[in-house]
Formats: sequence, C-alpha cells, structure tokens
Amino acid sequence: MAPMIELCSWIRTATRGPALALVLALASGTTAPRGVAADVPTPEAHLGFRPGADYRLAAWGDVVGYFKKVAAASDRVALNVLGKSTEGRELIAAAVSAPGTVRDLPRYQRLQGQLSDPRKLADDAEARTAVDESKPVVVITCSIHSTETASTLMAMELLHELATGDDPRTREILDRVILVLVPSANPDGVDKVASWYERTKGHPWEGSGLTELYHKYAGHDTNRDWFMVNLEETRLLSRMLYRQWFPTVLYDVHQMGSAGARLFVPPFYDPINPNLDPRVHQGIFAIGAHMAADLAAEGKKGVLTNAMYDNWWNGGNRTVPQRHNIVGVLTEAASVKLATPIFLGSGDLRGATRGFPDHRPAVNFVDPWPGGWWRLRDIVDYELICARSVLTLAARYRDQFQKNLLAMARDAIKAGETSPPYGWVVPPDQRDPGAAARMVRALRDTGIEVTRADEPFRAAGAEYPAGSWVLPAGQPYRAHLKDMMERQSYPTRLTAGGKAEPPYDVAGWTLPLQMGVRVVEVGSPIQGLEGETIDDVDAPRGSVEGPENPTELLLPNVANDDFTVLHKLLEAGVDVDLLRGDAPNGAENPFVFKPGGPTARVLDAVLPTVSSRVVAKAGDPTRGDRVKLVGRRVGVYQPWVPSMDEGWTRLVLERFRLPYRTVHNDEIRAGGLKERYDALLIPSIGPKTLEEGYSPGETEPAFTGGLGAEGAVALRAFVKAGGRLVCLDDACDYAIDSFDLPVRDVLKGLPTSEFYAPGSVLRALRENTEGSFLASGVADEVSVYFDRSKAFEVSGKSGNVVRSVLRYAATNPLESGWLLGPDRIAGKSALMEVSMGRGSVVLFGFRPQHRGQTYGTFRLLFNTLYLP
Ligand SMILES: [Zn+2]
Repeated sequence: MAPMIELCSWIRTATRGPALALVLALASGTTAPRGVAADVPTPEAHLGFRPGADYRLAAWGDVVGYFKKVAAASDRVALNVLGKSTEGRELIAAAVSAPGTVRDLPRYQRLQGQLSDPRKLADDAEARTAVDESKPVVVITCSIHSTETASTLMAMELLHELATGDDPRTREILDRVILVLVPSANPDGVDKVASWYERTKGHPWEGSGLTELYHKYAGHDTNRDWFMVNLEETRLLSRMLYRQWFPTVLYDVHQMGSAGARLFVPPFYDPINPNLDPRVHQGIFAIGAHMAADLAAEGKKGVLTNAMYDNWWNGGNRTVPQRHNIVGVLTEAASVKLATPIFLGSGDLRGATRGFPDHRPAVNFVDPWPGGWWRLRDIVDYELICARSVLTLAARYRDQFQKNLLAMARDAIKAGETSPPYGWVVPPDQRDPGAAARMVRALRDTGIEVTRADEPFRAAGAEYPAGSWVLPAGQPYRAHLKDMMERQSYPTRLTAGGKAEPPYDVAGWTLPLQMGVRVVEVGSPIQGLEGETIDDVDAPRGSVEGPENPTELLLPNVANDDFTVLHKLLEAGVDVDLLRGDAPNGAENPFVFKPGGPTARVLDAVLPTVSSRVVAKAGDPTRGDRVKLVGRRVGVYQPWVPSMDEGWTRLVLERFRLPYRTVHNDEIRAGGLKERYDALLIPSIGPKTLEEGYSPGETEPAFTGGLGAEGAVALRAFVKAGGRLVCLDDACDYAIDSFDLPVRDVLKGLPTSEFYAPGSVLRALRENTEGSFLASGVADEVSVYFDRSKAFEVSGKSGNVVRSVLRYAATNPLESGWLLGPDRIAGKSALMEVSMGRGSVVLFGFRPQHRGQTYGTFRLLFNTLYLP
C-alpha cells in the first residue's frame, strides 16, 4: 500500500474566509466587503513602506498579518498555517491560483499525489487524466537564511500581484499553475534580524554584527537539515512537500556576498550527483535559461549561470527535493547590508569560485553589472522577475513538467524493482536501537516508504527477524533513499594549479555510517515480506529485562539514550556507580544502581521515552571496582560571533536531556571556573575568533572581544585545578597553542594539493584506553565525520600524559566522500586526551555532533562531558 496523501486544511474565502475576514475587519476597523480584488491591500498600505525600501525590514507578525488579510480578501489565495516554528511563531504557506482551483485544492493535491506515485493510478487512462487535469505545483520558499532579507518582502509583493493582477501573464499563471508560497522558512530569524537591524542603525556596524544565531540551533545551517530533519521548520515543510503537495518545482530564494555577480541563476556547476534523474537536470536548465532570458529582457545586468553552486550535495532545500523528482532550483542575489544600500565601484567587483574566475564577460556571465548603488529594492526586483519567470515557464510547459513528474516516479519504482539494490534492511538488533529508529524516522519524514516486517523473512540469502524495517528501493523517492544509504565517491577535482577544488558543501553523508546503524543492502529481490507500510516510526521503548525481584540494575552504557536515563536517575538522587571493567553480560563500564527508592519512579517515567534496556540482576552485587557518579557541571562556550557548531551542540545535549549551562567570555575571563564547572566545551571555532571575537566597531561594544589573555589564563587554571576542557575540531588549535600542549596537528599547513577531505566519513579505530572512560561503550571501529578537520601526533617532551583514544584507520580511512592524500592521515590520532595538572584537555580532531547527524559519535562527546 502506498502511503496516504495528507490533505491539509486551508483557510479560504470559500469556507473559513468570512469569519476570518470579519475578525480582520474588526481588528482593522474597516468594514469593506471581501472577495473582490479591489479589497486586497497593497503591501505598502499594510507595512507603511514599499517592500524593498531602503532601511526597512518587516517583522514576522506583519508578514503573517498581510498574508492573512490577502487570503481573506482574495478568492485566488488560501492560507495554511503549517505549525509553529522552533520559537513558537506561525509557519505559513499560501496557495495561489485561479479561484476555481483554490476552491478545490484537495483535488489538485490528489492529482499531484498520483503523478508523484503512479501506484495510485488505476490505468493509463487515469494517468492521462491526471496529467491533463493537474496543474504544476511550484513551491517558492523565502529567507531560510534570515540575513538574506529581500525574499520575504518579495513574497508579499508577489502575493499582491497574483491576487490582484488582471494582465494576460498573471492570468496565464493563475489558470495553469498552483503556487505554494512560503514567505519564510525560518520565521524566528525574520524577527531576530529585523530587531537587530533596528538596533544597529546609525552605528558603524549597521546591518551586521549579529550576536546570536538567527535560528536558535542552526543559524545558517537551517539549510543543511533537509535530510536529517532535526528542526521544527524542516519537519513541517518536509511534511508539506512529501505528504501534502508533491510539488513539480521548488524555487528557494537566496542571497550571497556583495561583490560578485548581481544574481546567480541555474544551471549549477559540476559535479552532479549520479542519483539525480536527468529530467531533473534538464528542468533546471530550462528554468535557469528562462529566468536569465527574462532578466535580460527587463534590462537586468550581472546575471551569472553555471558557476559556484554544484549539484552534488544532498541536504539543502533545493537538493533534497531534487532527489524527490522535483525540479529544485535556487537563485543567489548579491546582498546589501540587511536593508542598507551599498555602493560598489567597478574596482570593487570581483569573481568568486568555480566557473567565475573574474568579473569579466564570459559565456556564463554575458552582461556584467558596471557598479553603482545596490539596494534592497534591486534584489526584490530581480527576485520578482525570477519568480514570475518560473511560474510562466511552468504554465507554458505544463504538460512536459507533469509528464516528467509521472515518468520519473515510474522509472524510479521500476529501477528499484528490477535491478540491485532492491532495498535495505535495518535489523532490530542494533548497538543503539534508538539511533536506528531515529535514522528510519529521518527517512520517513522525507517521504521514504518504510515497511515494518511482521514475520521473519529472507533477503539475499539471509533471514531477518520480525520487527526489521525494510526500505524497498522500488519507490518513487528511490533517488533520495539510495543517496542516503550508499557511500558517496566524490570525484577528484583539482584546479589548474593542482589544488583541490572545494565542493559547495560536503562530499559525503551516508546516514547509516554517520549514525552508527547497521544496515544491510539487499542485492536480490526480497521474498516473503509480510508487513505494513508505516506512517510514523516508533522507537523501541525502554525496558527492564531480567528477574522479578532484582538486587541490582545495570544500564549497559552503550546507547546514547543511556545517558538520558543516567541523568534522570542522578537528578532524582539515586546512587549510581560506574563499573570499572566489563559486566558479566558483556557490557563495558555499565551504570549500576539499586532498585527501590526513587528508582522505580524514574524508570517508569523515562523508559517509555527512550530505547534503553535496563538489565535486572538477582543475587550478589556485580564484582569489580566502582566509581560513584555525580551529576557533572557542564558548560558550553557560546561566542558572540555566532557559531553553528555551538548551536548544534546545544540541540544534541537538549535532545538527550543532558544538563549544561551556556558560558560567555565574561564568565571565563573572570576565572574561578573550577568552582562552577567540571567540564567546559569549546565548539569548533577558530583560534582567532576565540581569542579576539568581534573587533571594536564590528558590533555593539558589549559584545566585542573574545577570551583574550585572561581567558587563556583562566582556562589553564581550570584544567590544572582538575577541570576537563573539551575542544572540538577548529578549537583544538587554540588549546594546543595557548597551553603549549605536546601535540601537533599533522595536517596543519598542508596545501590542498597534498591533503584534502571536505565533509567526509572516515573510519577510526578505538585505542587501548584502559583506565579511562572516554571510549566507554564505543565499538572497536567507528565512523567519524571529518570536515577539513585534524589528525594528531605527539610532539616534543613534557610532563603531560598524552593518551590517544581513537586513531584513523591505517588503511583506507575513507568510507564516504572525498579524501585526497590518505597517507597523511592514516594511523594518526583522531581523539586525544592530554593531562595538565590535575585535569585534562580533550582534543576532538573531527566533528562528534556534526549538524546533529552523527549519532554514531555523540557518545564520545557525552563520555568526555559527563563521565569522570
Ligand atoms: Zn542562503
């Protein structure tokens, strides 16, 4: 059975409009009749300024208010509140089309669902009807990057034009296309940036110097979350894309730096990902060419194509839809300073990377912009042309777009049913069952069909138990599934000078490797599978296994969730010991505690929410050395120069309900840290930013400066007094240099012609760590996420004890992505602990919590922060 199409509730004039219109009329003190175009207010009348006016940004409430007014007044517009953002703001989408279509949106959703999954079609005749009667659904998403301010304002103007226009081109769009317009994919950021901008006006740092991430956890990485779906915004929008609308085209509107082209439009740059259907690429070509032609016709200069942005990467709001047979495109406009105009002389203009060596005419840059003033309104104008262009193209090539949508889904299903891989099995016996469930949920959240086996079954010569999850390759979104499950092999690409040409983002992402989940690829058709296609993925519930009246309980300390249980026990005052050495059931360093007292209450409350297995034991207490655990006081450093790695660290700790406090420069510089903390974490931030922070004049004086000399002294004192300082990736340099640690990063300073590994998964091996708990519960082999990261060796002599916890594999460390110069890294240390006084510094040469994705190495982070 194919999953159901989920029909969303749209606020329309035809149904809920009158009540809303009345409310709005009362609120605004007007009594104008609804439903005719003349009643639709202009954005200018609503905001008090024209979208794109210099020095003016809109607050999110005003944007939503405008969309609601237009939906109430126009029978061409229906509004859907998708849900609440991370910080509780309404995330909205407006459907815009001809009134007859807007009155009947569920029908068009159904047709779109059929074209996206031909198994919902009875026969060829029904398929032809679906092609003929459907209308291409074009989703436009704005300002996922909140400092890229123009597109939300553009969306207000686009909405108004389509709700009121009576010209042939508007009618053509309305008659033949459905636009789903998302005025911001990160509503929280719209307010954060607008209010910060107001504060900066008139200061040297006007339009810059933000001191917090513009998304609570992700900042700019909001657009790196589309396959993992860690954030509320990506979850709600993915639901809209893959369960409600099944769009034909998605246009994600962005801005870039100021000094290059005025606007990038597709096609993209090499390399391309082999999993994308060629018709997706050709659709991208058509849209990009049409946009560029429309821009030229309107006299807009400085349009760049075929450069900078490649089509390899998976994870963004154009690239994940591309693996769902959606023609995903973006544009990137040159930025102003939020809303403050900028002036660029011809000498200020320059090229950038890949395919754009300089700011001179070229086949992909036919009409350079000469320089001059560049204003927010210019960006709005360019983006409006692009938005109308993609809608017009979709209207005119309606048939081809809709036929392709159907054909791509059909071919994907056929390929998965007739050629290997036939699917993937996720067996229930996993080191970390919670991580396995989380992986399957990420796939399900992005529209992947999942079957849960009711009975044992055979696949490729092996038997799998009931409860296994099966991900069949024969499904419409095969390209996405395959791209998540297989290992990426990024092509070696060098510049003319022999240096590595960086990919747009990362090179590899294989989900089972990142998450430490055992998955079996099936090379022949799966037989005898009984089970149902599941809608939501339930993680296995925690349990207590063993005799009825135990004398002792053991938490194996292997799953990430075990830390959640541990902290709930410690918070309730339960005495928990860490067993030095292995327990009889094979668990390493388990947590041991007594039943009775508050224990039962804690377990009853926490076990239904985690996948931990508690082992009950009768008889004598387990033998072995014990260390009594206490709740460790953990601080996470937050710089005023926003750090996404810091944000993701918070997300991961909060997801596992682990206690921490945020620490800023002042507190560190003031010293006395050991009195308040047992462990301090510095996220991956470069030494210069750590030391110096914002320079004077770059932001408000209260937020300038970094850790400074006092901070280094205070951190050294903290470690010497017995604290543990945990440094992630880029922050390792800071500790090595500041404390003269006898450790060297062997990759430091190497040219990229000799060593390069951007965002890849590498194989690491556990060292003999007797006497330390840093590797507790970690498998002998572990996949680590390496993004232009580090490899250590001991250098020089000192009184410090240096212990390597993980080592990059001596042969073939690359598991997924791109590794140029493997010999440089093979066998070097990936994770070290260096003693200093009574404490130690832990150096992570990789990203243990990268973008909240690397479940396979979260435990290493938890061990360093929460174990003695
Ligand atoms: Zn962007």
